[in-house]
Order: sequence, then structure tokens, then C-alpha cells
Amino acid sequence: MQNLPLDSEKILELDRSHLWHPYSSINSDIPVFPIKMAHGCYLELYDGRKLLDGMASWWSAIHGYNNPHINAAAQEQLQKLSHVMFGGLTHEPAAKLAQQLVSLSPPGLEKVFFSDSGSVSVEVAMKLAIQYWQAKNQPARSKFLSLRNGYHGDTFAAMSVCDPVTGMHHLFNNSLPQQIFAEAPTCLFGEPCTQAHLQDIQEKISTHHQDIAAVILEPIVQGAGGMRFYSAEYLVEVSQLCKQYDLLLIADEIATGFGRTGKFFACEYADITPDIMCVGKALTAGYLSLAATLCTDSVATTICNNAPGVFMHGPTFMANPLACAIASASIELLTNSNWQDNIARVEKGLSEGLQNAKNIQGVADVRVLGAIGVIELENAVDMEKIQSTLVEHGVWLRPFGKLVYMMPPYVISDSELHTLTSATLSALKSYLSN
Ligand code: PLP
Repeated sequence: MQNLPLDSEKILELDRSHLWHPYSSINSDIPVFPIKMAHGCYLELYDGRKLLDGMASWWSAIHGYNNPHINAAAQEQLQKLSHVMFGGLTHEPAAKLAQQLVSLSPPGLEKVFFSDSGSVSVEVAMKLAIQYWQAKNQPARSKFLSLRNGYHGDTFAAMSVCDPVTGMHHLFNNSLPQQIFAEAPTCLFGEPCTQAHLQDIQEKISTHHQDIAAVILEPIVQGAGGMRFYSAEYLVEVSQLCKQYDLLLIADEIATGFGRTGKFFACEYADITPDIMCVGKALTAGYLSLAATLCTDSVATTICNNAPGVFMHGPTFMANPLACAIASASIELLTNSNWQDNIARVEKGLSEGLQNAKNIQGVADVRVLGAIGVIELENAVDMEKIQSTLVEHGVWLRPFGKLVYMMPPYVISDSELHTLTSATLSALKSYLSN
């Protein structure tokens, strides 16, 4: 087999013959678009068309594509050490990144466990919680309380705490651990949270607390489960309930972390420190797969001072040096910038650009928080039709359910924001009128 570059037809032919895509059928005729390269906020197709990317590659490419600072850090690290096992060895990129994460995280999170993906970091968080209660001689505390409409990943334990209706439970029910679910928060972001909003979760916690190892939730934004923004007061109250009933709190910041909501971590809206926190996605600015689970000294020492005395997890690619160096460079880029002002600018651009969507027939709601803009439709989208309409209009979005949403790279300019929102609205009008 010669190592010649493939043209787009050949890529598509091989793709059709061999490749799975996320949540897809191998029999599907829904088109996939071969991407030749990417720069800034643009994805370039083989025919020369450029798509303005409103997804930041599933919310990860916060600095856009082909960023010179991150490229340089990757190249430098590549010359030194691209990978080494983490069992019994350590290295500068992991040490530096751990220090950055600890200093930027809510106070009290001191220990960092690196893993390969968001889902695995959730598995790690859940295993930490279970080992914590075993170490405290309370092994019955092995269940998790999660919120409806939540999303925490596709591996088994992570799936078990995803929304039971949209989260594939019907398919895998016989193999999934059974968890406890509270109603999704209905108090909206910026609004007060009343006793009525808390009633269900209070009841669930007071009934089941002796069986619960931890409450797991996405702070402030329920992402893939519906793009819903909820009241910071709810988070404060849940954190207090966890303290009251002696439950661990796991904050899944995989989607919200690194500034996306306007705070570095969404927990800051409620000024809380969870016991365990997961980060991923934007951690490496979309360059490589890396995630981390952080926890307090109390969680770590309880696990390690009691039998078996170790935390039982250790992936092959744990703390991959190349990924850690890239993550450090991305965090440096972000923290050395006026990122809060920049997210406020993106928020303004999204709010202004999407406000007219409210007048389009078939649109049920429009909402914006930080660099997240959401148009909720009255009906679920026809994926094939809406995707091709958006591409015809020069934008890359990946709607799901009733949601056409955007989470662009933070480097998107005002004029690109204008193009992104206006092209999306035109595409939406065309899609909804056909
Ligand atoms: N948790 C949240 C909140 C997410 O949004 C996601 C992915 O969308 C995950 C976990 C799973 O992360 P990954 O896809 O990297 O496994």
C-alpha cells in the first residue's frame, strides 16, 4: 500500500467501507464532510469551501485551530518526550499542569488524577467516591444521585448517571448500575431558587442518603442533556444538602470548564468547592484527548490511609506528556488574556445575533450564557436536512434533538460572530419553511 495522500472521494469511499461515526449507523446515507485542514475558526473542505465553526469541535477548540502558541508547545514537547508510562515515573508537563489546575480550581481541590477522556474522568470520580466510603467502612453508600437531563459520558458508570430517558438506559438497562434521579432544576439561571424547586432533590436525598456515595451534576449548564442554564442558588442549596447529609459532591465541569460560561469553572457562580471535579474537552484546546479528576485532600487521604491503601485505576496513557504540555500552553494562553472580557464580548455577540431567532416560526426559546448560544425549536430537527442547510450557508453546527446551538472558539471575531449568527438564522428560516 503506497502512502499517497487521499483525495476526498477516496476518503469518503474508505469511510463508507470501514468507519463508524458517533451515534451512527453503518447503513446511514447521512453525509459526512471530509475536512482538509482547519485554521482559526474555519474548517476547510476539499473543494475549498470554508465552514465557520460554531461548535469548537464539541466545545473543545477554544483557541480555534492551528494556534501558533499551542503548535509550538506541541512541537517542543514532541522533541523531548511524547509519551512515557506514569506508573513509577513522572515528568514536567504533568507536574506543571497539575499545579495550574489546582491553582485555578475552586479552593480545596488539591489532588489530580489524569485520564484519557471525559467519560473516563467521570468513571474515576465515581470510583473515588465508592472507595472513599469503603475506606470509611460504609460500603453500602455505593449509589449516585444524579439529575434528570444530565449527561456525563458514554461509558457504563457514566451512562448510569445520564438522563434515564435520553441516556440510552433502555438499551443497556440490564447491565447498568441503578442510580437515583432527582428532577432537573427548573429554576433558571439568574433567578431565585425556592423551596418548591428543591423539594424533589431534598426528598430523594433524605430518603436515600444512606445508600448514596455522591451527588453528581453538571454545574449551572446541563449540556448534552438539553443545554439548560439553571440558578446558581440551586447549586448552593445542593452543596449544602450534601454537607448536611454527609454526601460527596461531584461537579462535572467537562463542558463548562475553562471559561465557557463566563467563569473559569461554573462552580464559581455558586462559590462552592465540590469534593471531586471532572475536567476534559477544552483542557487541551481540542488538540488531544486528555481529562482530569480533581479531589480534596480529605477524599484522597481517606482513600489512601485505609485498605487497600491505593486508588484502583491506572490507564496506559495516563498523564500523556504531549497532551499535558499542550494543555499547559492552552491554559497559559487563556489566563494571560483578558478572557472574562472576551467571553462577555462573545456573549454580547451571540445575544444580539440570535435575538431575532425568537421571531422565527417554529422557535420555542433562545438563550445565551457566556460563549453558549441556544435556539430551542418546537420540534426535533431532521438532522440530515438541517446539517446540509447549515453547510450550504457556510456554517458548521451539530444540532441535536430540538436544539440548534453554538459554542464557538473564544477567538471568534465580532464580524465572524455576526456571520455565524446571521447565517444560522437564514439557514434556520430556510429549514423551517421547507
Ligand atoms: N460530561 C459532560 C458534561 C460532557 O458534556 C461530556 C461530553 O459531552 C462528557 C462528560 C463525556 O466526555 P467525553 O466525550 O470526552 O468522554
